[in-house]
Amino acid sequence: MKMFGTNGIRGVANDYLDCELALRVGKAIAKVMGPGPVAIAKDTRLSSDMVRSAVSAGLMSMGVDVLDLGMVPTPALQYYVRTHPEVTAGVMITASHNPPEFNGIKCISSDGTECSHEEESAIEDAYDCDLACTTWDHVGSVRSVTGAGEDYIDAVISKVDVEAIRSAGLTVCLDCANGASVNTTPQLLRRLGVRTITLNANPDGMFPGHYSEPTEENLSDLKRMVVEFDADLGIAHDGDADRVVFITGSGRYVAGDKSLALLARRMVMSNGGSGEVVTTVATSSLVGDVVSSVGGDVELTAVGSPVVARRMIEDGGIFGGEENGGLIFADHQFCRDGAMGAARMLESIIRDGDLDSQLDSLPVYHTVKDAIECDPSVLGTMVDHIAELHKGEDANRMDGLRFDYDDGWVLLRPSGTEPKFRIYSESRDPSVARRRADEFKEEFRALSGV
Ligand code: MG
Repeated sequence: MKMFGTNGIRGVANDYLDCELALRVGKAIAKVMGPGPVAIAKDTRLSSDMVRSAVSAGLMSMGVDVLDLGMVPTPALQYYVRTHPEVTAGVMITASHNPPEFNGIKCISSDGTECSHEEESAIEDAYDCDLACTTWDHVGSVRSVTGAGEDYIDAVISKVDVEAIRSAGLTVCLDCANGASVNTTPQLLRRLGVRTITLNANPDGMFPGHYSEPTEENLSDLKRMVVEFDADLGIAHDGDADRVVFITGSGRYVAGDKSLALLARRMVMSNGGSGEVVTTVATSSLVGDVVSSVGGDVELTAVGSPVVARRMIEDGGIFGGEENGGLIFADHQFCRDGAMGAARMLESIIRDGDLDSQLDSLPVYHTVKDAIECDPSVLGTMVDHIAELHKGEDANRMDGLRFDYDDGWVLLRPSGTEPKFRIYSESRDPSVARRRADEFKEEFRALSGV
């Protein structure tokens, strides 16, 4: 049964994602990623204890021991899995940025990276097969492990210039979205000597402050707080804190492609003016411009943080990420890491100037993001049809269809999560970006009859 989407298994708790499904997924994970032990962790959602218990029971019924890390960010679980060689897999119970009624199951490979599509398919196949339990005398045990969050924060601190950050006397407003970062990022900032004012920093799965997607609309309180407290920076995580976004000292929301560009520049400069940065075909040319201006190279991959992480491993890339606030630092670990992103942004504003002036120094690009609702049966073939129409033009088929022009680019791809066809068009000239998006939209309509 197809269960894994772009971000693991997701669904409304006790609707799609009920105990029966979670238990059987636990058994399938045991079969594919055993022999264990398997480390498990959860976010703050009301249903996370229930889903964690069901997955754990499934694992134990197959003879796999479970190490329960409690409530920690996804990258803290990933750090634990990578640094404990005896652990054969990790399972994170989270629906990241989805509304509170949702939950999810995300699988982590033994090297701490997110599972590949092949591993996910193997779990789906096992789910559909006979999953016989072990005998009574071979069932697994569960053991609580404390300190995974602290070890993770130690590792983040070991990678940054603590003295420089401490002596800068920074003030930060931090919005944890009542999610999994409540026991880690505030401690990280305190240990870095940063005066920290927290918001939504209680573990509360009702998300009373705002939903856990760190969009500009959801961060209006944080924007206001940064100005009122005269802070140097605002930091916000999504629900499981694998992502981080920023607010400037004047209260401006920093779009993810811009923070990606600024941190990419910092990482290349810290690497002596060289190194490869990996991002996706859907990311603004801004990143390429900024990275090449300081001597680095940019490689593009298909969309999805596991793809970016694996490419970084293959190529020896120093930094990577996507425009949604997912940032990967090769010197730390090959997964999105919200706390590491926050710590490195502190270094960036100390070394490269305050975030407002850094933002103002960036070239301006305009991106049109359009989507056409479409029958899923037609979606997959449309890329081929449009490619055929543009035969002879230089097209990139890495993920969907991308055309690069002297003054911009267009990306056409079926959505990974909804029955929609997405059209991204970017240019430094807003009218050019709009015109190209409209042209491809027309072409799509004519070909599909939608
Ligand atoms: Mg997340």
